[in-house]
Amino acid sequence: VTVEDAIKKADTVADLAKLAQHQGRKKYCTEINFFTSEMYKEINTERKYLAYLEDAIKNDEFVVYLQPKYDIHSERITGAEALLRWNYKHEKLLSPSEFISLFESNNVIGKVDQVVLKKVCILLSEMKKKNMPLYPVSVNLSRRRMENRHLKEQILATVDFYEIPHNLIEFELTETAAYSDRDSMLQLLSDLRDLGFLISMDDFGTGYSSLSLLKDMPMDTLKIDKCFIDSILTSAENSRECILLKEIIWLSKMLGFCCIAEGAEQKEQVDFLRRCGCDKVQGYYYSKPVPMAEFIQKVIDEQERLQKECC
Ligand code: C2E
Ligand code: MG
Ligand code: MG
Repeated sequence: VTVEDAIKKADTVADLAKLAQHQGRKKYCTEINFFTSEMYKEINTERKYLAYLEDAIKNDEFVVYLQPKYDIHSERITGAEALLRWNYKHEKLLSPSEFISLFESNNVIGKVDQVVLKKVCILLSEMKKKNMPLYPVSVNLSRRRMENRHLKEQILATVDFYEIPHNLIEFELTETAAYSDRDSMLQLLSDLRDLGFLISMDDFGTGYSSLSLLKDMPMDTLKIDKCFIDSILTSAENSRECILLKEIIWLSKMLGFCCIAEGAEQKEQVDFLRRCGCDKVQGYYYSKPVPMAEFIQKVIDEQERLQKECC
C-alpha cells in the first residue's frame, strides 16, 4: 500500500464516520464497524454522484416518469405521481433508491426536486395547449427541503412562470425523515395549501409519528404505504394487518381526507380496497411509472375509449 493509498483510505474512513454520525443513516451506525471494500466502493460512488450532480442537471440526465393514479370506482385516471430516474451519463438508468437519500443527506435534493417540478409544469402546459384533460400531478417533497427559507418563493416562481393552476400541483410529503422544526414545516404546508396547492402525506403508516401528524398537518390526501396493501395478499382478513388497513381507510375518510392506496399489484387487492371505501389506487395493477410521452398516450387512449362508449 502506498502512502497516497493509505491517506485516501483514511479520508474515506473519516467520510464514513461523518456519514454515520451526521447523516442519520442507520446502515453503518453500530459502535464498531468493519471497513469493507464494498463500503469503500459505495463511498466512492456516492462522491462521484455528488461531484457530478451539477453537470448531470446541465446535461438533462434527470428523467421524470409518471405513474397514473386511478379512481377505484370508475377505474379512470385521476392524476399521476412524478417519479425521478437518473439517466446517468446517458449510460444507465438509476432508480431513486440509488441517489435520493444521498442527495437528501447532503442537502442537495432541492436541486433535483426543482428539476422535477419544472418538467411537470412543462408537461402540464403542453397538455393545456393541446386541450387535453388535465389532472393533478404530484411531486415528492423531501422534508430536508423545508430547511430552505425560500422554498415557497422557488415553487411559486416555477409554477407561475408556466401559468399552471395551483390545484394541478400536489406535494407528497414523505415521512421517513425526522424533521427538526415541526412548526415551520406545518406553517409552510399551510401556506402552500392556502395558495391552492394540494398536499398529501406519503407512505402513511411507516416512519415517524404519523398519527400525531394527522392531527395537525394541513393536508388533502393520505397515501397508505404499500406494506399495508401487501398484507391483503399475505394475511387473513381478520389479521392485525388487515384490520389496521381497514381502520386507516375509515380514519382517513372520517378526517375528511382523500384516501389513496400505493402499490396494489393484483385485482384481489383493488377489490378489497374498494370494499373498504378507499378512493384511489396507484400501483402496477393499473400501471407502472411510465415515461411522459407514454402517460400522454394513456390519457389520449382513455379519452378515445370513453368517447366510443358514449356513442
Ligand atoms: P414514493 O413517493 O412512495 O413512490 C412510490 C414508489 O412505489 C415508486 O418507486 C413506485 O414506482 C413504486 N410503486 C408504485 N406502485 C407499485 C407496485 O404496484 N409495486 C411495486 N413493487 N412498487 C410500486 P420509485 O419510483 O422507485 O421511487 C421510490 C421513492 O423515491 C419514492 O417513493 C420517493 O420517496 C422517492 N422519489 C422518487 N422520485 C422522487 C423525487 O423526484 N424527489 C424526491 N424527493 N423523492 C423521490
Ligand atoms: Mg410519493
Ligand atoms: Mg409512497
